[in-house]
Amino acid sequence: MKRDEAIPTRRTLLTELPGPKSQELLTRRTGAVAGGVSKGFPVFIDRASGAILVDVDGNALLDLGSGIAVASIGHAVPEVTAAISEQAASFLHTCFMVTPYEGYVAVCEALNNLVPVTGEARSALFNSGAEAVENAVKIARSATGKQAIAVFDHAYHGRTNLTMALTAKSMPYKHRFGPFAPEVYRAPMSYPYRDGLSGAEAAAAAISVLESQIGASNLAAVLIEPIQGEGGFIVPAPGFLPALSAWCTANEVLFIADEIQSGFCRTGNWFALEHEGVTADLVTTAKGIAGGMPLAAVTGRVDLMNAIHEGGLGGTYGGNPVATAAALATISVMERDDLAGRAASLGKAMTSILRTLSEDLPGIGDVRGRGAMIAVELIQPGSKEPNPAAAKAAAAACNAEGVIVLTCGTYGNVLRLLPPLAITDDQLHDGLTVLGNALRQTCG
Ligand SMILES: *Cc1c(COP(=O)(O)O)cnc(C)c1O
Repeated sequence: MKRDEAIPTRRTLLTELPGPKSQELLTRRTGAVAGGVSKGFPVFIDRASGAILVDVDGNALLDLGSGIAVASIGHAVPEVTAAISEQAASFLHTCFMVTPYEGYVAVCEALNNLVPVTGEARSALFNSGAEAVENAVKIARSATGKQAIAVFDHAYHGRTNLTMALTAKSMPYKHRFGPFAPEVYRAPMSYPYRDGLSGAEAAAAAISVLESQIGASNLAAVLIEPIQGEGGFIVPAPGFLPALSAWCTANEVLFIADEIQSGFCRTGNWFALEHEGVTADLVTTAKGIAGGMPLAAVTGRVDLMNAIHEGGLGGTYGGNPVATAAALATISVMERDDLAGRAASLGKAMTSILRTLSEDLPGIGDVRGRGAMIAVELIQPGSKEPNPAAAKAAAAACNAEGVIVLTCGTYGNVLRLLPPLAITDDQLHDGLTVLGNALRQTCG
């Protein structure tokens, strides 16, 4: 491959998608890769920069998904790839629990400063979001001596056994994979478009479930995504999160925020909790934390994090030296370039264009989100009946034009936009034009 060739800054298609080389690789994939792994859009990527992905046929695609909110600072950002190369040339692994290194400590210091935790914080590092969530639950149970965990309708927390239990949606995440872990209870989520409740009303409904079906004296923690990701980019009504967090504090129940998708500048703040001035006892992070490298963390109140016996938390690879080097570079680029501010302005541009479009298109039920985490919920005109076929068709129409758009939602009827924050205004407008045309074709 011609790796020294400059990556275009504009979407450019040389073939139909997927092109001939991608088709060949797709055949090999079918012969080699387990069928249970989603196919997504089978265009094989060769290299990337900023918001542009170049495939093996030389097509330049515009990425509005960031590999599910991971490449938030952009693809192959030079500061991050340089930090990775430098660390890789020094050493790759020692296992932090065996012989430590500075990068792990430095990432924990950075997280303790950035993450909205109540009071003084400590952190522990892991490899994946699900692993972070599992560890937050371990910490909450051990520190409180209680077992029950409350989660919400539409929640997504991962695919391991415990996190499948925490996740709401059966197909495809849980279907035929039970039995699931016990002591997990589900409460109603504030979903303003569908429940029409104020934040206070929705919180009262959730709290009533917690009190009547679990009881605060059995409940270790309430675990919630401050803006739900896979569930449909559901932004709870204002006041919902503060009311829940206040109830937790008053009842000695821990409040755990899963900021794995909403964190790291995505929503126009470093963390989505900050929009409502809420702090949490424990916060899980992953995805955007390390510019594309696998890394995750639990950051929490010092008394909780230190309540666990030595050796109770860890793992062979958690906080790998290369991943921590990438995280430190990612965090410094986010600070230097004020990517939270950039996310806020991208959000304004996306929302205003999509809201205008929704006035003409009765198939668009709702445009919502915060910062660069924006969703369009598609419905059957004249009702709120979900329209997953339109979402699928619109995403496919975008993909065919070389614009990567993801879907989500309990009903599969939500298009979600998670552009790299390094996207330029021209690229964003190009992507939104393609999306607008796709929506006009599919939900007019
Ligand atoms: C993606 C995600 C997870 C799981 O992270 P993995 O790294 O895929 O294990 C957990 N919670 C939320 C909110 C997520 O978006």
